[in-house]
Amino acid sequence: AKQEGRDRHRFFTAELQAQSARMLSLENALRQALHNDELHLHYQPQLSIDGRRLVGAEALLRWNHPQMGAISPAEFIPVAESSGLILPIGAWVLRTAAAQMQAWLQQGMPADTTMAVNLSLAQFNDAGLCDLVATVLKETGLPAACLELELTESVAMHKPAEVIEVVRRLRELGVRLAIDDFGTGYSSLSYLKQFEAHKLKIDQSFVRNLSQDSDDQSIVQAILGLAHSLDMLAIAEGVETREQQSELQLLGCDEAQGYLFSRPLPAEAFEAWVRAWQA
Ligand code: C2E
Ligand code: CA
Ligand code: CA
Ligand code: CA
Repeated sequence: AKQEGRDRHRFFTAELQAQSARMLSLENALRQALHNDELHLHYQPQLSIDGRRLVGAEALLRWNHPQMGAISPAEFIPVAESSGLILPIGAWVLRTAAAQMQAWLQQGMPADTTMAVNLSLAQFNDAGLCDLVATVLKETGLPAACLELELTESVAMHKPAEVIEVVRRLRELGVRLAIDDFGTGYSSLSYLKQFEAHKLKIDQSFVRNLSQDSDDQSIVQAILGLAHSLDMLAIAEGVETREQQSELQLLGCDEAQGYLFSRPLPAEAFEAWVRAWQA
């Protein structure tokens, strides 16, 4: 039994070492990624719940390493966050997505379409965030109302008082705010009210079994009631089936995003998708 314990210990130690070695090599590789042009954005369409109108796009980061291949954001975003690399990378994401959106507006995309960009906690804690956003808007010429910043519910509730102050200054710039992964954290309703976000994003975990699970239907209904009573729009993420879409429509959800409409796409493929969708 003693030997078994030692073996287990050794096994877990080896696993931990392998894991931290991978994290470290990812961190070193990520340091080069920006300069080596290995990062790209994909864009996923957001539609009105009836699927008729394009209301926006969400920018999602992609990393293609020359040897390791495509690495999932679920794996490298935490590395970027813990190493501080999320600040330069996040600034690049913001610039690139804003410039892309401005180009699309000039190509005739309706002026009320929005570009959503994900922000990390480290970016919210950075004193330079508001200046960065203001500079990017100025440099790209993108109207502030066309930029939507997404912060997750857990980031929003991490240090609510501080975050609310940053959010207030961002709102003064005229950008829109969305609370991401809503329903997975623990929101204080009084704080939620103070955020004055424009949109709640219903986490895909509540959407997955929506057609069968009456608990999930109740949760989504409650989130929609909350959103609408606070004058926010609600968008459902991870919508993959017609059944989910019609259930959401029945419940009164405003917008939807998911593989049913399109996967996140490179800019040119996104443009082709929009043309085909309108046709
Ligand atoms: P998120 O912000 O919640 O993004 C939604 C995720 O769901 C994306 O995964 C998207 O590709 C995926 N998705 C979209 N539609 C469907 C669907 O119908 N079914 C399923 N199963 N999944 C769907 P992705 O692109 O792998 O990104 C994962 C997470 O990484 C994001 O979750 C976000 O938290 C983070 N992330 C991605 N890009 C950025 C970024 O530029 N900055 C920051 N800070 N985080 C980012
Ligand atoms: Ca998001
Ligand atoms: Ca989300
Ligand atoms: Ca998520």
